[in-house]
Amino acid sequence: MSTMPFPANARSASDLLDLDDEFGPGELELRSRVREFVDRRVRPNIGRWFDEAYFPVELVPELAELGLLGLHLDGYGCAGGSAVEYGIAIQELEAGDSGIRTFVSVQGSLAMSAIHKHGSEAQKQEWLPRMARGEAIGCFGLTEAGAGSDPSSMVTHARREGGEWVLNGAKRWIGLASIADLAIIWAKTEEGLRGFLVPTDSPGFTATPIEPKLSMRASVQCDIDLVDVRLPDDAVLPGASGLKGPFSCLNEARYGIAWGAVGAARDCFDQALAYAMERTQFGKPIAGFQLTQQKLVHWALEIQKGQLLALRLGRLKDAGRLKHHMISVAKLNNTRMAIEIARDARTVLGGNSITFEYSPLRHANNLESLRTYEGTDEVHTLLLGQHITGISAFRG
Ligand SMILES: Cc1cc2nc3c(=O)[nH]c(=O)nc-3n(C[C@H](O)[C@H](O)[C@H](O)COP(=O)(O)OP(=O)(O)OC[C@H]3O[C@@H](n4cnc5c(N)ncnc54)[C@H](O)[C@@H]3O)c2cc1C
Repeated sequence: MSTMPFPANARSASDLLDLDDEFGPGELELRSRVREFVDRRVRPNIGRWFDEAYFPVELVPELAELGLLGLHLDGYGCAGGSAVEYGIAIQELEAGDSGIRTFVSVQGSLAMSAIHKHGSEAQKQEWLPRMARGEAIGCFGLTEAGAGSDPSSMVTHARREGGEWVLNGAKRWIGLASIADLAIIWAKTEEGLRGFLVPTDSPGFTATPIEPKLSMRASVQCDIDLVDVRLPDDAVLPGASGLKGPFSCLNEARYGIAWGAVGAARDCFDQALAYAMERTQFGKPIAGFQLTQQKLVHWALEIQKGQLLALRLGRLKDAGRLKHHMISVAKLNNTRMAIEIARDARTVLGGNSITFEYSPLRHANNLESLRTYEGTDEVHTLLLGQHITGISAFRG
């Protein structure tokens, strides 16, 4: 099912500019390892997992073994990789399925990076090594039913009572919450917005998967209820105060999406090309028709531009020169580009495209989520509009 991978070291025909040459040997070696994993463990099963709305939790130890959980974080058992290495790995996972990539993003870019950036030494020691080994799963609870694009309107709150915090409220769309050991919950307090480390076995914590879904079916998102959840004084993340706390983590995840979306687009391109070369109509392969070639060329150009954006972003991040608006450029462009290619690539596969055997329609459905989470298309457009004009158009 959903096969037709190209070998781990092969160049996609969409790489018209020899962009692979921009990667170093270590980066290409990592890519080969992740690609081999995706070919062996994800592609043969993903159609079934998507059909059954099953998140393959059995992959977690293997993802940890590959060093992918917190790959870009230093110390505490994390791999200490570069931003580009993280992007490369994420891209290969997303070529397999966005749901599998989302697991690595939620675990590494959101939950682990919240602790790594804002946690106390004791919190880091307690959680990060176990999370890097895949022995503890984390989730990141910011969104609420009434607070999506505007998290400042959240109602979840924490109050101090004696030496404890008491947490009340509800979160929505929280990835992995029902299988997580730890939830990072963002809540209003008298001192402003704070982040809390909430073990999911705390009395008063409930996570309920949201289903059925049309997108991200091989992945789990939940409603969380928090009813008088009592936490020790040191459950708060000491380094995070205000919306900058969660936003600094969201930027990490948005960065990964810019790379991942290119992987999904490339997979659609590769499948459509392979199919078009084999499928014969009117006496010749459909790849020989000008209209098909026009599609393939358009997609290849867009994938190349998306890859250039992601690579530029990664090199800037590694040099410590990445600015917030640049992440919006790549997140907005690459998800928009990928969904257009996924929808259009489906046409080349004709009727067969609506089966689970081929990936473009599955990618297209998944990419709808990418366009919504980590800042919608509209939110990133407004962020860029504000950057260009200096005028915020978010309110009024
Ligand atoms: C698969 C999936 C996984 C997710 N995982 C997580 C997670 O792990 N943790 C977490 O905290 N959240 C998560 N989310 C939530 C996600 O971040 C939100 O869905 C997203 O922020 C959008 O919020 P919303 O769905 O409430 O839409 P809304 O904010 O209600 O937006 C609806 C529409 O209104 C538009 N809109 C809003 N404001 C403006 C404006 N000022 N101008 C113009 N248009 C505007 C939006 O762009 C959008 O088109 C996930 C969501 C999905 C679908």
